[in-house]
Amino acid sequence: RWDSIWLAGVRDKEPETLFDKIISGEIPATIVKEDDKMMAFKDINPAAPAHVLVIPKDRNGLTRLSKATKEQSEMLGHLMLTAGEIAADESLGFGNGARIVVNDGKSAGQEVFHLHIHVLGGREFTWPPG
Ligand code: ADP
Repeated sequence: RWDSIWLAGVRDKEPETLFDKIISGEIPATIVKEDDKMMAFKDINPAAPAHVLVIPKDRNGLTRLSKATKEQSEMLGHLMLTAGEIAADESLGFGNGARIVVNDGKSAGQEVFHLHIHVLGGREFTWPPG
């Protein structure tokens, strides 16, 4: 699409991503937890039996964790606490340990430049990650 070509060099400033469309409801998602500040939904291409993404609703320009500022501390803390609650939720297939991941930047595998926390569970994980 034209915008992905145009944005290829400026992804850190990406104004809108598909996650904004999930927040607005334009793209459907299986939402597992939500409040005024965050949304958590099932990953469409799960890397484990349980795989949930936690995102801020208003990311306030934040594309990736390494660009975060002190002003975003509260939002980041809220996302982290939510990720921990999900990691303990047996009804979602968690409860026996989880891998909680933030991919920061392209070389770490980040595809969507709207900050998100991956919560993975339901299987054993190895270290180091691939
Ligand atoms: P990666 O694709 O390497 O995991 P990210 O860390 O940027 O990159 O994660 C983006 C995640 O968003 C992926 O796990 C992908 O499966 C998921 N995803 C993409 N589109 C959707 C969608 N429409 N609904 C739910 N999850 C999605």
